[in-house]
Amino acid sequence: MADTTLMSIPGQIDPVPVARDITPREDGRVDLIGLPKERIRELFETAGLQPKQAKLRAKQVFHWLYHRGVTDFEAMTDIAKTMRPWLAERFVIGRPEVVEAQHSTDGTRKWLLKTADGHEFEMVFIPDADRGTLCVSSQVGCTLNCRFCHTGTMKLVRNLTPGEIVGQVMLARDALGEWPKGNMNFDYGADLDDAEDEGHYTSDGRLLTNIVMMGMGEPLYNFDNVKGALKLVMDGDGLALSKRRITLSTSGVVPAMERCGEEIGVNLAVSLHAVTKEIRDEIVPLNKKYGIEELLEACAAYPGASNARRITFEYVMLKDKNDTDEHARELVRLLKHYKLPAKVNLIPFNPWPGAAYDTSTPERVKRFSDIVFEGGISAPVRTPRGRDIDAACGQLKTAAEKKSRAQRDREAAEAAEAASA
Ligand code: SAH
Ligand code: SF4
Repeated sequence: MADTTLMSIPGQIDPVPVARDITPREDGRVDLIGLPKERIRELFETAGLQPKQAKLRAKQVFHWLYHRGVTDFEAMTDIAKTMRPWLAERFVIGRPEVVEAQHSTDGTRKWLLKTADGHEFEMVFIPDADRGTLCVSSQVGCTLNCRFCHTGTMKLVRNLTPGEIVGQVMLARDALGEWPKGNMNFDYGADLDDAEDEGHYTSDGRLLTNIVMMGMGEPLYNFDNVKGALKLVMDGDGLALSKRRITLSTSGVVPAMERCGEEIGVNLAVSLHAVTKEIRDEIVPLNKKYGIEELLEACAAYPGASNARRITFEYVMLKDKNDTDEHARELVRLLKHYKLPAKVNLIPFNPWPGAAYDTSTPERVKRFSDIVFEGGISAPVRTPRGRDIDAACGQLKTAAEKKSRAQRDREAAEAAEAASA
């Protein structure tokens, strides 16, 4: 037997189980954020509404939550005045708590957030000329200790719930002031079954246009909760963002990739980062479980991938580790061998205190990029964003505990003021 069986291999931990049904707040009320419309209807019925009523109210409430972003039942003006306190006694409309909000000089914004039970995680908003991308976390910490990733130095604390995941998108919309204003003018009519919403909207003119599941954590090790959250993001009656504007990044959890394509249907990004077993084993230890060939085969079979919807291969440029001309040529060979509709994203390594690697020189990155381009595959170099506030790829790690309570309270108050300005 190979002696590797004796080694403890990071990344051998299977998905962390969490209670998927509702955990009421301390006061017994239930947070509606993160629940599918059908589940809201069931809750309303269990709480005593007649079936038809429950269905109508669930539809109305769902619309107010995700289409209009209200956080108070009193604001739901098409729900009877007497009904609103009934809802408020039983339910809440939650948001992750903002502990700290930071602005980078390049416009990138980072929020340190806290779950109701006190765990901290981060989300990042990256504005560009033609789009605005929200980088969403799926777990508090990560079980996969990729050697170049700051998040990987944290222990996994727990999976985020669907509400905490979709809550990041809701909070970003709050902070960016992007909920539609004005009256809701849909007519439910007499026959509830035929009721149709008229209040659809598009992402035109919005700041937040794209979502990437590239924050803290491995999204495919929290599959069900990520799926539940993204369904709400994509729901035409909900946040109504197209699946083409959502990208999920995985370090290579092969057994969950097909399900991801079939059941969620979003764009796929794969953190490849190396083209030999030896190097990938070192920097992405999950490679010892699911190797490069197996991973690329799963990519070739990814449902929905095509030349119009390419798979993104992320490649972090680590000095003298994975950045030679030979590596670039091997990358082209592999992607062609598996006939992958691929584009490569070259990410200059973002340093963090204590990291074992350096960033490749700009000349090296350029040369690597040129070789891949010459091989017929697009390989742009990603400009690091938000490095001054540790918001760039792989820099996320909650270190807020180091700050004094008073300092954090002061900063949170300032952040709240800035968000409401
Ligand atoms: N866990 C998922 C998604 C989050 S990480 C995954 O690993 O794919 C988002 C991207 O940032 C990944 O490609 C990751 O490998 C990369 N990354 C991590 N640390 C980095 C660092 N220090 N510099 C640059 N990119 C990094
Ligand atoms: Fe986890 Fe992704 Fe960081 Fe690896 S790169 S430790 S999978 S968050």
